[in-house]
Amino acid sequence: MSKGKILIVEDEKKIARLIQLELEYEGYETATAHTGADGLSLFQGQQFDLLILDVMLPGLSGLEVLRRIRANNQFISVILLTARDSLPDKISGLDLGANDYMTKPFEIEELLARIRVWLRHQSTTVEESSILQIGDLTVDEKTRIVIREGNTIELTPREYDLLVYLLKNKNQVLSREQLLTNVWGFDYYGDTNVIDVYIRYLRKKIDAPYSNPYLHTVRGVGYMLKE
Ligand code: CA
Repeated sequence: MSKGKILIVEDEKKIARLIQLELEYEGYETATAHTGADGLSLFQGQQFDLLILDVMLPGLSGLEVLRRIRANNQFISVILLTARDSLPDKISGLDLGANDYMTKPFEIEELLARIRVWLRHQSTTVEESSILQIGDLTVDEKTRIVIREGNTIELTPREYDLLVYLLKNKNQVLSREQLLTNVWGFDYYGDTNVIDVYIRYLRKKIDAPYSNPYLHTVRGVGYMLKE
């Protein structure tokens, strides 16, 4: 069984290859990209546990790749590879949400040790996590904080409950009756029109300002949250 899947984005092919061979020897699954753009598209198309990201990349820089990844994903551990004496890169990298960095040239053993640390850290975070997610929208059930594309969204308690229920049942069509029963409770003898009203409120806040909507109307049936 794989110990985790790691994406390596490094334009120096020899270094990329060396890291890849070491990681595979250690039992990790890997994927490698030699440009920032390729790295980003690999990242968006597959599920990874950790990202090793060179800062100095041709075209899209490592820091730009990091910025774009963090806009949608707060969870993946990212280790930056930086050149010696590039303190500004290290500082911007950490500000942009990198977990750690390695200064080139580095000992592969040290990189392996840091990978173990961050993967362990990540697995505890995920276990304790109370995060519900669809695409770039996340809800933290512990703090009740709702975020889309890095923006905090203010919801009323009822809108929040509705969103959480939709998230917990995402990719399923939910009838108005189902929503009324589960979100408003059995003792609410209201018209199911209340659902349409609240869906409209929710849509305005979570979907309207963004390019792709998650909240879909299924004509004659109800509503569904999906990407
Ligand atoms: Ca480089």
